[in-house]
Amino acid sequence: HSPAESRRLLADIDLDALRANVRALRERAVGGARLMAVVKADGYGHGLLPCARAAREAGAAWLGTATPEEALALRAAGDTGPVLCWLWTPGGPWREAVEAGIDVSVSGRWALAEAEAASRAAGRVARVHLKADTGLGRNGSPPADWSDLVAAARAAERAGTVRVTGLWSHFACADEPGHPSIAPQQAAFADALAVAARAGLDPEVRHLANSPATLTLPEAHYDLVRPGVAVYGLSPAPEIGSPADLGLRPVMTLRAFLASVKRVPGGHGVSYGHTYTTSGETTLALVPAGYADGVPRHASGTGPVLVAGKWRTIAGRVAMDQFVVDLGGDRARAGDEAVLFGPGDAGEPTAEDWARAAGTIGYEIVTRVGARVPRVYR
Ligand code: PLP
Repeated sequence: HSPAESRRLLADIDLDALRANVRALRERAVGGARLMAVVKADGYGHGLLPCARAAREAGAAWLGTATPEEALALRAAGDTGPVLCWLWTPGGPWREAVEAGIDVSVSGRWALAEAEAASRAAGRVARVHLKADTGLGRNGSPPADWSDLVAAARAAERAGTVRVTGLWSHFACADEPGHPSIAPQQAAFADALAVAARAGLDPEVRHLANSPATLTLPEAHYDLVRPGVAVYGLSPAPEIGSPADLGLRPVMTLRAFLASVKRVPGGHGVSYGHTYTTSGETTLALVPAGYADGVPRHASGTGPVLVAGKWRTIAGRVAMDQFVVDLGGDRARAGDEAVLFGPGDAGEPTAEDWARAAGTIGYEIVTRVGARVPRVYR
């Protein structure tokens, strides 16, 4: 069986949509800002390499990953363009990353020291983006340590081990337009840039904007916007708009094929724990997709799926490999299609609908689609 022939469960990936999203986001970038397509976590579940290639084709100047392994996988596949990886962990493959000309993010003196050691081992200047914690409270150098980090990086530049190619930070609440943390983060980033400029750093790129900031905060675009979820055609948050409102098209359609269809009497308990019982004689269809495939167990009893022309709600619990829908008086046959989510314009639910059903965000719905689900590229 080639993946395209699988009759269980497929993730259709529409790379034309991805390219169109990248172009639409580039058009929104102001002041000549370029675009870094974030392809971490296997391209948010859509597949690292095909998405990276399509993003480059559509004009992504940069690619962004979390781990160095993801960035090295891009190099191994022949990508030679600018790539930044930002999740610094002690003892990571930093020498390999520096050798491969991958830009690495540094949030503190400890990481800078390791980058310098990697540079010496690789015999190549390490390309470093210094990350400021302007208020996310996650990665990044806090303001009190920033000038010290900047001075150390400047010294490393003079020593020839490091070149500071980027200065950057990340928003905490850009997906909540008007959130009171947004303006202070922007001001803190401006301060961090001023400190770096006074110390003589002259980076290639300064960047701050994730998808929501790319879509709503043009003053935060600087030299580079850094969208992830919007590249895959999802809105960062319903308050910002639907994908269609934003000129985006969802890239993934998750499609199953009914494993079986059967008539059962009323009073029939369905799936583990019997949280659902048929109320009368009815038709149950078995969808061969479960939490091992990324169908959230939290969507038991709530998740929507298009079967035989109508939305059905999962009957009972999602199991590891399967769940059941109650078709009532409607008919279907084994092998018929069951669309869990897609762009939504053929009547199917969207990843956002699943996010609501499971109490999560669209990001998690697509990113958790399991490794055993074939991705089919169109
Ligand atoms: N930049 C960084 C540092 C990130 O960690 C992420 C993803 O979480 C992004 C950009 C992209 O964010 P989004 O998917 O909201 O555009």
